[in-house]
Amino acid sequence: MSTEQHGTSPDRTATGSRAGAVTGAAGAAGAAGAAGAAGAAGADATVARAAAPGAAPAAVRGVGVSPGLAAGPVARLAAAAAEPAIARLAPGADVEAEAARVTAAAEQVAGDLTAAAATVDGERRALLETTAQMAADPALVRAAQQKVREHRLDPARAAWEAAGDVADQLRALGGYMAERARDVHDVRDRLVAVLTGAPMPGVPRRAEPFVLVAHDLAPADTALLDPAQVRAIVTAEGGPTSHTAILARALGIPAVVGAGDVAALGEGRLVLVDGGAGTVTLDPDDAAVHRAAERAARVRTFDGAGRTADGHRVALLANVGDRAGAEAAAAAGAEGVGLFRTEFCFLDHAEEPSVEEQVAAYRPVLAAFPGRKVVVRTLDAGADKPLPFVTATPEANPALGVRGLRTARHAPDVLDHQLEAIAQAATAEDAEVWVMAPMVATVSEAEDFVASCARHGLGTAGVMVEVPSAALLAGPMLARAHFASIGTNDLTQYTMAADRLLGSLADLSDSWQPAVLRLIEATCRGGAQQGRPVGVCGEAAADPALAVVLVGLGVSSLSMTPRALADVAAVLAGTDLGRCRQLARAAVDAESAQDARDAVRAGLPVLTEMGL
Ligand code: PEP
Ligand code: MG
Repeated sequence: MSTEQHGTSPDRTATGSRAGAVTGAAGAAGAAGAAGAAGAAGADATVARAAAPGAAPAAVRGVGVSPGLAAGPVARLAAAAAEPAIARLAPGADVEAEAARVTAAAEQVAGDLTAAAATVDGERRALLETTAQMAADPALVRAAQQKVREHRLDPARAAWEAAGDVADQLRALGGYMAERARDVHDVRDRLVAVLTGAPMPGVPRRAEPFVLVAHDLAPADTALLDPAQVRAIVTAEGGPTSHTAILARALGIPAVVGAGDVAALGEGRLVLVDGGAGTVTLDPDDAAVHRAAERAARVRTFDGAGRTADGHRVALLANVGDRAGAEAAAAAGAEGVGLFRTEFCFLDHAEEPSVEEQVAAYRPVLAAFPGRKVVVRTLDAGADKPLPFVTATPEANPALGVRGLRTARHAPDVLDHQLEAIAQAATAEDAEVWVMAPMVATVSEAEDFVASCARHGLGTAGVMVEVPSAALLAGPMLARAHFASIGTNDLTQYTMAADRLLGSLADLSDSWQPAVLRLIEATCRGGAQQGRPVGVCGEAAADPALAVVLVGLGVSSLSMTPRALADVAAVLAGTDLGRCRQLARAAVDAESAQDARDAVRAGLPVLTEMGL
């Protein structure tokens, strides 16, 4: 994340050639939202400024990815095992016994992770189970053993190199697979810890709650975080769509990622984390700490019916990927499901799942919402989510390639079978099933999709608006389709031409960008012309301030991670529709994402009162 200097702090000091992420707290803590790229202040300058008598406390700035305010002492993540030196087995060593140590270490790591998985549920369990499977992967174990046998490498070094090879292969694939390289490194570090007898890397244990600071967090570490212990998370790396961000939001832990240099956040140092604004204030005063504690103690719940202060209904729905997610969403009061990401059910499948297998995956999600709306999205394969049975060919630009609905061009049967499975699941359950296609770009694609759905008896068919062309053509699209759901994650990626997975472009990958807001406005206009509902199911819907803007633009439903429901509901309930429209106007007319965010936050004091 690049450095940003907000407000009027006069002492910007550019002593280093590298841009850090440190600002004067007076500006940083007061400014809301994610960073852009403006100033530069070396870490040395920060520490000096923080230590100087009478100097304003410093703050570190990153990307706020999970809202909330929390203060506490820093606990730094235990360092991963160091890279083992290239050591060879001694002459006469029992090579087979050494090779067998790799198997034993893999079994131990996989066993520990599986046991840990059994203590949690939902997304956290799935994540730990995936990491356990990677640890037990016979290909990885075989590759390491080969290095022991053929190159007489010490087992720890062999495991390090074998895992490094796997991670390199994943990185070369790009997108979603490249993100998995982080999991392989986690497995590698655990194997090396077992093989060398070093302490297992991971989240520290302390008697008192703390703010966890790390260079980066392995998904398995994040999945095991206990919100009672970990008040907030700050990482140097990572972007808004990293696993850390997604899980922190799911756990309700305030988080700032992509903070760059976190050296100033030393062990035990008191910090105040604002996961909405993306700031970490060093050495906050007692009043600020007290305010944070008071806000954290206030628990908000959602009563199951979203509305503005003057009673305008806005359906608040959940994004889910499986049965556990759907059940958690129902328990959190979600009015239904606005996005069921069906591809999440089959990410590890090499072959197309049978219709029966698909029906078995879909039914429990529908069963969690009897009589309620469940929007099932057809497979969004490709780019960051390759599914081998529809996206086999490597592409130079996968995000611009054959993904989403486009996979039906060369694999029409896969779509046909899926619609058949959705229809069967819908018949077997009581949910009101709507179906939508991802990555629709043309009116004829919309028309064909609606016709395909109708052939399977699926009468409510919609389009996701993720590509600027769909937003601009919303009128004719919605003359064919029955609804639109705006995927702001991809709409932002394609409008700003900024890879949504790149932390270094987080200032561009920001749905507050006025160009994105104008496309959302155009989509709502198209929906109004045709009398069709327009919802939002991207991450923007989970931002309480942006939710107000979306409602003001005419969006009639918001779908989000269940954790965000209560905050979004509370802010909407405190704002009438006229105010939503005024603030939407101000945001759309702004010239930058930061101006849009600042204008809306300034007009919504309820956000500060609620600590959001
Ligand atoms: C989006 O793009 O906003 C969206 C909801 O789809 P996904 O995040 O699954 O690509
Ligand atoms: Mg998308």
